[in-house]
Amino acid sequence: MEQSNYENYPLWIVLISNFFSLAVYLLGTFVMYQLGLAWLVAYLAYVACLEFRLLKGSCVNCYYYGRTCAFGKGRLSCLLFKKGDARKFACRQITWKDILPDFLVSLVPMAAGVILLVHEFSWLVLGAILLLAVLSFAGSAFVRGSLACKYCKQRELGCPAERLFGKTKK
Ligand code: SF4
Repeated sequence: MEQSNYENYPLWIVLISNFFSLAVYLLGTFVMYQLGLAWLVAYLAYVACLEFRLLKGSCVNCYYYGRTCAFGKGRLSCLLFKKGDARKFACRQITWKDILPDFLVSLVPMAAGVILLVHEFSWLVLGAILLLAVLSFAGSAFVRGSLACKYCKQRELGCPAERLFGKTKK
């Protein structure tokens, strides 16, 4: 019988899901470093703020708070913050504007990479932005569609992001 959802995701899913996220962060870090140290620091601070916002603002209200979600963040959030209100997770309405900051994690280094290439061509930078594009779009669609959202209990209870992406697919 096919698994419908996970109470706790298996470790292999957590590892693969995080591999994709970390690969995007590392590629972004590499490209931003080519622009200069100040850009690199600003980029890393931005990524840290997004992670903090997710753990404190969303994960505390998620069904997986204290459990192993597809990214392991339910457990991390439980270590750092108090449990929130599960009702808030499902009834929150989000739009593309709300998730734009997440897309900027890859869009900003991709734009920075194009600027760098215009000034001075580099195969390394070109490879990094192409890989970044593949991992950010195809990679994240794969993680969401085949590993994370597919087996998510919170999706059954109600997930604003899933509703938004689902609407787009129709
Ligand atoms: S349905 Fe997807 S986006 Fe929503 S909580 Fe589950 S894993 Fe996260």
